[in-house]
Amino acid sequence: MQVFHSVKEMQHCARHLKLQGKNIALVPTMGALHKGHISLIRKARIDCDVLIVSIYINPTQFAHGEDYMSYPRHLEKDMAKAAGEKVDIVFAPTDKEMYPPGFTTSVDVGELSARLCGAARPGHFQGVCTVVTKLLNIVHPDFAYFGQKDAQQALIIKKIVQDLNMEAQIIVLPIIRDKNGLALSSRNKYLNKYERKAALVLYKSLQAARRLIDTGERKSEYIKEKMQELIQKEKLAKLEYISICRYNDLNELELIEKNTLIALAVQIGRARLIDNYLVENL
Ligand code: AMP
Repeated sequence: MQVFHSVKEMQHCARHLKLQGKNIALVPTMGALHKGHISLIRKARIDCDVLIVSIYINPTQFAHGEDYMSYPRHLEKDMAKAAGEKVDIVFAPTDKEMYPPGFTTSVDVGELSARLCGAARPGHFQGVCTVVTKLLNIVHPDFAYFGQKDAQQALIIKKIVQDLNMEAQIIVLPIIRDKNGLALSSRNKYLNKYERKAALVLYKSLQAARRLIDTGERKSEYIKEKMQELIQKEKLAKLEYISICRYNDLNELELIEKNTLIALAVQIGRARLIDNYLVENL
């Protein structure tokens, strides 16, 4: 497995691989790899000739006062995991490589980034969009893999690729959960055992919504109320938002329809957790 810390070296290598006619897959991550990341890596491994995993904790997507400094950093462990999954290249650039002095550009998709998580995390999606655009431009992958866990992010990245005429095909893969239903996340490391139990309320509330929809309920307001009731019962949980929106423009919906996203963010202890359920069909 090769490891690059420099943008130039990564770019040079990717260009060379392209000239050899190789299919390239990119899996962008912030490290602290768990089974959610591994599911993306495994699918990418099957799909492509050359598998590149980027590990970069992007400072520009953390707002002031968020957990940038305490975000788990396990580069050595991550590289061992990547090697175990037969990753060909780990791209782990430094901040100076990604944002050299004088860097001023930012990528903004507009409205989509102001809703849901964007409302509580101003600047977050500009940071994400900018770093993902840079990664896609450095590597020029044929395929790039993202998790449905970050549903808004996946939608926004598809939009950048479409609007900016990028060539990568964006593949979005299902949410990986632990056996109790908690969506895997690097931020779960912040939870103590009581908080971890409390964190199950995200999945439980989504399951409750799903059951209501399965039995014919269509009114978003009612479904939100039922979800809220469940979350309020959990003392350690502080609800940030519940959104029931159309999964293309993220506009709130009064009635559930095909392709509705039910998403929520909940603060539990130090961890801001998100989860979602996509109503694909009715
Ligand atoms: P992160 O390292 O948190 O930035 O995540 C890197 C990629 O892994 C993103 O595309 C995430 O959506 C995806 N991911 C994170 N957690 C999960 C999960 N539990 N299931 C599936 N994909 C995930």
